[in-house]
Amino acid sequence: MRIVCLDLEGVLVPEIWIEFAERTGIPGLRRTTRDEPDYDTLMKYRLNILAERKLGLPDIQKVIAGMGPMSGAREFLDDLRDAYQVVILSDTFYEFAKPLMKQLGMPTLFCHSLEADGEGILVNYHLRMPDQKREAVRRFKELNFKVVAAGDSYNDTAMLGEADGGILFHPPENVVREFPQYPVVRDYGALRQEIDKAFASAR
Ligand SMILES: [Mg+2]
Repeated sequence: MRIVCLDLEGVLVPEIWIEFAERTGIPGLRRTTRDEPDYDTLMKYRLNILAERKLGLPDIQKVIAGMGPMSGAREFLDDLRDAYQVVILSDTFYEFAKPLMKQLGMPTLFCHSLEADGEGILVNYHLRMPDQKREAVRRFKELNFKVVAAGDSYNDTAMLGEADGGILFHPPENVVREFPQYPVVRDYGALRQEIDKAFASAR
């Protein structure tokens, strides 16, 4: 009765906004919460740029499909799902993630959603609930699952803290320094070993 909760971007697929900015050559879309800490302002700014460029959801999804998952991600995930239940907890949007989830064999994903008009132009975004990664882990534990979670960044640390075991995968150095309580791994082989180890000691 074990669930592995995985972050998506930076763990199984590239950072979608950054990679999208590269592929479309729209530098304004490189803006992240580090440049604009107010998430709502940042999202409205991003959606405005897409609308101005007349980039609708089908165009966006085509670009995202071309990114593909990270090398080895599909094999890692298939292998992991053979041993455990796996739920991906991400702050991305279903509409963006879908082309990549298909390439990952459609694992379960909990994230947020976007709203498009009749022309496919994105007009709004909807966060399912605040702090959803931690809330999901808490609820799984209430359902009597042991939970091990892995992620790469700040928005994962609440989920790692809530889980029976938390692991940092390929994190930036500042996250490593600020959260020394979590083991750090940098490839899928080591991640799998650390997941198995965390469940063994969570018994
Ligand atoms: Mg991430």
